[in-house]
Amino acid sequence: MIDHRRLGRDLELFVSDPLAGAGLPIWLPAGAAARHAVEEYVRELERRAGYRHVYSPPLGKRELFERSGHLGWFADEMFPPMRLSADDEFVLRPALCPHHALVFAARGRSYRELPLRVAELGGMYRAERSGVLGGLSRVRAISLNDAHNFCAPEQVGDEVREILRLIREAHAALGVRPAGFRLSVRGPGQRYVGDDAGWARAEDLLRAALDGVDAVEAPGEAAFYGPKIDVQIVDAAGRESTISTVQLDFDKPERFDLSYTDSDGSRKRPVMVHRSLVGSMERLFAYLIEVHQGAFPAWYAPVQLLLLPTGDAQADAARRLCREAEAAGLRAEVDESGSLGARVRDAARRRVPYVGVLGAREVADGSVSLRLRDGRGLDPMPRADALRLVGAVVASRSADLLPPA
Ligand SMILES: [Zn+2]
Repeated sequence: MIDHRRLGRDLELFVSDPLAGAGLPIWLPAGAAARHAVEEYVRELERRAGYRHVYSPPLGKRELFERSGHLGWFADEMFPPMRLSADDEFVLRPALCPHHALVFAARGRSYRELPLRVAELGGMYRAERSGVLGGLSRVRAISLNDAHNFCAPEQVGDEVREILRLIREAHAALGVRPAGFRLSVRGPGQRYVGDDAGWARAEDLLRAALDGVDAVEAPGEAAFYGPKIDVQIVDAAGRESTISTVQLDFDKPERFDLSYTDSDGSRKRPVMVHRSLVGSMERLFAYLIEVHQGAFPAWYAPVQLLLLPTGDAQADAARRLCREAEAAGLRAEVDESGSLGARVRDAARRRVPYVGVLGAREVADGSVSLRLRDGRGLDPMPRADALRLVGAVVASRSADLLPPA
């Protein structure tokens, strides 16, 4: 069976060391290169959609999380507070929302600034029990693609629809194939903040934004502060989890006393929309490793172009081409040890999308022979053309390894 933990080890993407602790994986250079490419893509997508990125620390004073309600409603899933002195306690944050509420509150806000979209790919922590931890899919240190969109109440419907569009765009680029959409509402036997009328209004808004999308209703799956739309995936073992989410929150703006000045000069309460386009980097990669069986699209492959000189006489030319590829923004390596056959097999094992072979003939005429990961081979071509070809596929973030004819 395909298992991201085994592939992650074979492809040297990440490692879980018991000395570091369960649920605290370490990203190795190959995994970090792929993740970096995905993070850059997500930030660019958000920037083009009007998001403003911030940085905030992964821990904060106990009082911040009392104010947000997390310590009252969510303490079971948090690490215990750390005490520096009698009146100075800190907690590892279980969510980014409290810090982003403080971004909104950093100065007076006008209706002209709304929706104000505050985004961060930030760290947070959950005190998962060691029995449920595994590879990247359930971890204790989480790097979340997160944002909080502060809206006027009448903007919420359009904002949620636009977020759903961005989710679909990100999924298409990454190769995520959702198993379904879920409208997560309140259920019996659980505690929720807020009143019935507010919940009914929020659930109706999400139902309306979903128009045309097939979604199942899931009672009991709402957040403690509001209903949400979740996009579900299924892993290779058949386990379902949430990869993307859009959540409505009327509660935190109250708790943090957030307000903006409306066009008539009156003070109004914004609505806080929590959203994640692709979830945490950990869960996203657990899924991407399995769904692509380690063969990522070229744009986020750890090594995009592996150069193989057929013998010692071609090694200098291979290293020169490697430097040119790197200068062109590609991730390239030279492999010069062992037989050519063994190196070709190793490139296939590593799922490298492009292998460039340099023999005596190629070195003599300044060309390179490209072999694609899917078995296709191209006729020798000038080296600059080969770099242009790979560069064009990477820049377009296409799933195919050849540019459209
Ligand atoms: Zn949030």
